[in-house]
Amino acid sequence: MKKIDKYEVIIGLEIHVQLNTQSKMFCSCDAKYFEKDPNSHVCPVCLGLPGTLPIPNRRALELTMLLGAATHCQIANRIKFDRKHYFYPDLPKGYQISQYDQPVCKNGYVNIMLDDGSYKKIELERIHQEEDVAKSFHEVDSNTGEEYTLIDFNKSGIPLAEIVTKPMISSPQEARKFAERIRQTVRYFGISDGDMEKGQMRCEPNVSVQKQGSWEYVDGRILPVEGAKLNAKVEIKNIGSISAVEKSLEYEIDRIIQRLEAGKNITQHTRGWDAVSGETKFQRSKESAPDYGYFAEPDIPLIVIEQSELEKIKKELTEIPEDKEARYKKEFGLSDYDISVITADRSVSEIYERFVAAAQEELKIKEEEVAKVCANWLTGIIFSYLNDKQKDLEKLNIDWKLISKLIKATQEKKITNARARKILVENIEDMNSLEKKVNALDKAEAADDDKIKSVVQKVLQENPKAVEDYRSGKDAVIGFLIGQSMRELKGMADPAAVTKIIKELLK
Ligand code: ZN
Ligand code: MN
Repeated sequence: MKKIDKYEVIIGLEIHVQLNTQSKMFCSCDAKYFEKDPNSHVCPVCLGLPGTLPIPNRRALELTMLLGAATHCQIANRIKFDRKHYFYPDLPKGYQISQYDQPVCKNGYVNIMLDDGSYKKIELERIHQEEDVAKSFHEVDSNTGEEYTLIDFNKSGIPLAEIVTKPMISSPQEARKFAERIRQTVRYFGISDGDMEKGQMRCEPNVSVQKQGSWEYVDGRILPVEGAKLNAKVEIKNIGSISAVEKSLEYEIDRIIQRLEAGKNITQHTRGWDAVSGETKFQRSKESAPDYGYFAEPDIPLIVIEQSELEKIKKELTEIPEDKEARYKKEFGLSDYDISVITADRSVSEIYERFVAAAQEELKIKEEEVAKVCANWLTGIIFSYLNDKQKDLEKLNIDWKLISKLIKATQEKKITNARARKILVENIEDMNSLEKKVNALDKAEAADDDKIKSVVQKVLQENPKAVEDYRSGKDAVIGFLIGQSMRELKGMADPAAVTKIIKELLK
């Protein structure tokens, strides 16, 4: 990126999340439509036929409120729906049932962890409830070359929560971290599966690049300072993955800066992200905000949410990810890296805490030390095994008590770390066999000095060349002798003691 120091980047994000409900937003059609035959999950309501009446899905509203609670929002006690009018083939009613002036949630925030471990607060303008539209397939007739469009209404009427941030994200990386935080949060509480490949979460960033000192942030809006003229913002659509949020913004910012440097101006418009070519491409210009002619949905009365109902929903909210991160730092003293890896997924963090509890019982050391040892074993050994084999932690039936005993054996110097790792990796998918190995260790004693001495003597006799090299000043060769001795001892000795004895015998 060229001359970025002269410019500042202002990003806002809109994220649509498909809510994890049984049925659609305003009808009883099955909401699990993925890979189902086109137009097999439809009824007069979600087809938008005249004369039908929408009935709001209670669970969808609860999940949106839960998301609001997880993101520090104010939650409305009256739910009002509005019609958002626009004409498009995937919207046969001619309007989408959404929310205009009274969203379910407003004024929230999430904290994202930056690379240096510090946090940045990203404020949310609102989270509103709406219905998804149908999906269009643009086809070409192979005989006549004529273009036509097919529409699948399975997705029509799927409940959505739309999250809108204030324009306070300052880099593509922050935008990615924000999207990751939202995906993590909806997964933590079963609000959505947040699978972008399946279209369950869709991100639309908008970005503008302004000259340093030409703008100020006032109440969630970007205003020009006196005499300055602001550059228009560009919106990016069709982003299919979290990493593409960052990549598309990097590309777009670079493109805008090149235009500005060339003396060209930026008009407000929408671009699409082409993941194959790695470029954003012009879609349509936007002279002004489209006039959606919002008005209150007359078919749905105001819904009053009692305080007791809201309290009940909030009970589904357990520790939110950023609070868990803070606790892991304070209670366990883990590194930022370990924290982000372990808390990324709620079930992984819960398994980790079971591991710590089991290890605490076995190892009579301070909780903070136990937590660190467990984090090392989990992120170091177990995660690399799972990555290699493409397996999920939740699917392995790991007995954390057994692993704790294995760790205990290393601390009692009955076995080396390397050997313990090997035993774990070889038996991680078979807890019965791990149990046998661990029980054998339990009975075994670490080799005493006499035993070590006799083994070392044997190793020195068998390796006269190494002994000679060592005595002629090649110190590094001692590593080889230690390795040979540890192997003879089957790892059941304290490497420090072995090293000491080798050095004594070589004198
Ligand atoms: Zn339906
Ligand atoms: Mn929307």
